[in-house]
Amino acid sequence: MTVQNLVASDHSVEISGLEKRFHRQQSGEMSLAVADVSFTVPRNSFFTLLGPSGCGKTTTLRCLAGLETADRGEISMNGQSVFSAAARRDVSPEDRPIAMVPQSYGIWPHMKVFENAAFPLRYGRTTYPRAEIKRRVLAMLDQVGLSEYADRWSTQLSGGQQQRLALARALLCEPEVLLLDEPLSNLDAKLRSQLRAELRSFQQKFGVTTIYVTHDQGEALAMSDTIMVMNRGRIEQIGSPSEIYDSPASRFVADFVGSANLIPGLVEGAARPSDRVVDAKTAIGVVRCERFATPPAPPTAGQELSVCVRPEHIHVATGTPQTTGPNRFTARITTTEYLGDRQEVVVTVGDVVLRAHADAHLGARPGDEVTVVLDPAWTVALWS
Ligand code: ATP
Repeated sequence: MTVQNLVASDHSVEISGLEKRFHRQQSGEMSLAVADVSFTVPRNSFFTLLGPSGCGKTTTLRCLAGLETADRGEISMNGQSVFSAAARRDVSPEDRPIAMVPQSYGIWPHMKVFENAAFPLRYGRTTYPRAEIKRRVLAMLDQVGLSEYADRWSTQLSGGQQQRLALARALLCEPEVLLLDEPLSNLDAKLRSQLRAELRSFQQKFGVTTIYVTHDQGEALAMSDTIMVMNRGRIEQIGSPSEIYDSPASRFVADFVGSANLIPGLVEGAARPSDRVVDAKTAIGVVRCERFATPPAPPTAGQELSVCVRPEHIHVATGTPQTTGPNRFTARITTTEYLGDRQEVVVTVGDVVLRAHADAHLGARPGDEVTVVLDPAWTVALWS
């Protein structure tokens, strides 16, 4: 079945096999910005494209908006094909059911707040009578907390207010899909965390499918229903925030989202994927992993892997623990940092350095010997 033939589904957006190359100016060669990207976005959900600078997030978003023409692939919105490289179909941006808020907000400084918000209703595809425009714009400005600013010049708004105005203007278009490209990146840290909660609640209130681009993993974890992690133009993993954080599919995801201890190793003995247990032989000893990413092929003894464990899943204790079990190692404290609710400690097990979150009142100092336990239930075996 081609994307063109899809009837209205539970997905607002379906992308398959998207590929985009750009000319490198210096070498004249073509470089791959987006490679074989396929994903679906459920209706009314908040979907985030997350990855480091240059990984292809904005290019993917611009292909969705129709501002960039992909070399391969298909895009459908609301069950209708808006792009097909094979069929040479490329619906123009204004005819796609989208509204986009660019990083710079795209607010016109020579217009007042009301006029900025009213622009798509005055000059968009559907035109409205004056009274209806006034009613809709004032209601929307009220929703985003800007009604008392309607008669101000848009340049008189703070960064956070400009961001809300840009959002109000986009929502007035009543888009099927709202595209947001790093909308919080120009704001200071405190405002950013306040606005991310606001953005999420607007998205839920208006029930609009939202595709959000960010390189900030904290933002992605806090706001999204689904996160797609990208690296070098390709998809590394698609999942809920907790799937991405607790069960990363690759070293790249483990390292990019949150902080992770990554220990190289080899599969010890026969792996038992059906038991959801893999034992890994590493420089600190045998480590039991009770989570693992789906291996490309059944793991075999001696196969390379990486053990991933988050600092909060390493328990640190002074003295000899009373209980026994897997993943217990003798370690030496290198540094401690008191953070009030916990201590962040760096320990070494042999030559391997591990970061752990310890009890705030752990009575251990640099140089002391401690026992560390890597919680097997939260220790992940990674294959790539
Ligand atoms: P950032 O977070 O820095 O915006 P990104 O993940 O959004 O990065 P893109 O802007 O999509 O990444 O860029 C992906 C790759 O494509 C990069 O290597 C970039 O240099 C290249 N690229 C993007 N736009 C163009 C263009 N118009 N011409 C040439 N190369 C481009």
